[in-house]
Amino acid sequence: MTKVLIVYTGGTIGMKQDSASMALVPFDFAQILKEVPELRKFDLSIDAYSFDPAIDSSDVKPAFWVELAELIRDNYSRYDGFVVLHGTDTMAFTASMLSFMLENLEKPVIITGSQLPIGVLRTDGRENLISSIEIAASQRPDGKPYVPEVCVFFDNELYRGNRTFKYSAEYFNAFKSPNYPLLAEAGIHINFNEPAIRHPASWGHPLSISTKLDTRVGILKLYPGMPQQYVDTVLSTKGMRAIVIETFGCGNAPGEAWLLDKLRKAVDEGIIVVNVTQCAAGSVDMDAYATGMTLKNIGVTSAYDSTFESAVTKLYYLLGKYDDNGTVKDKMSENIRGEFSKKQ
Ligand code: ASP
Repeated sequence: MTKVLIVYTGGTIGMKQDSASMALVPFDFAQILKEVPELRKFDLSIDAYSFDPAIDSSDVKPAFWVELAELIRDNYSRYDGFVVLHGTDTMAFTASMLSFMLENLEKPVIITGSQLPIGVLRTDGRENLISSIEIAASQRPDGKPYVPEVCVFFDNELYRGNRTFKYSAEYFNAFKSPNYPLLAEAGIHINFNEPAIRHPASWGHPLSISTKLDTRVGILKLYPGMPQQYVDTVLSTKGMRAIVIETFGCGNAPGEAWLLDKLRKAVDEGIIVVNVTQCAAGSVDMDAYATGMTLKNIGVTSAYDSTFESAVTKLYYLLGKYDDNGTVKDKMSENIRGEFSKKQ
């Protein structure tokens, strides 16, 4: 019998209203099982594990990712697929981070949650949970899983985890992946978009996890009128090994000499400066405009069409793995887990 492990980490799906403050607080997993008796109808063996304490995903941090990766590793041989219940707020960070930490992944890890708690009448949690379990258990006729990837499932759509970002704080279709097609859609049937799904080059490799994460990454979001002093503060923060600059359009920055000088100085000091666009869709292309070309000439690294979440977590992973910034810089330009499409 196909075996699926559900891991409840927290998030709205399992929250309830605190009677004093009326705010939503993480509840316990038994509640979810009670609210979804349909789980018993599956012709699957389903086990559940709950983080203690369950957290609001705003509290996600590297120690949480390590705990989750270790849990998947420790249970990897016993299950055919994993469903991770997670708050939506930082779900895209966790999906991206896990995609890098889980090396040689050959089984589905489907991350889902909901916008309304599972105990609420109009909840989206029940459908998200049931379809995620079905996807995690789905196998091709040759017995291999359909989606041996870290994915986000939400509102009938299955996305590659590291291509996804939270788009709506309100709608049931809370996630989007504008730069990569859906991996599956749930209607009457679950329709897998097989050409878009990433498969291992060869099967049968043991899972390994990379748990050393280095978070010495600063973020500089560009905006018209930003004061020099502010840029100074970000770029001169002690100990940073990388800076992600969130640029305009296809990777452009103001052409003012003071800004370019500061960025050049950072690159010359060995800091990896990574260019991510502020646009939700499309790619950095530093050859398109003179303002982007200048960044390229300084030695800024393109994140192509990566999401912000993916670029940041890829840096955490690579900086943890390699002490040498030059190696990290080279690897940032390599497509490791299908996280970007590089225009040649
Ligand atoms: N604050 C919640 C969380 O991310 C929101 C959600 O689950 O949708 O944990």
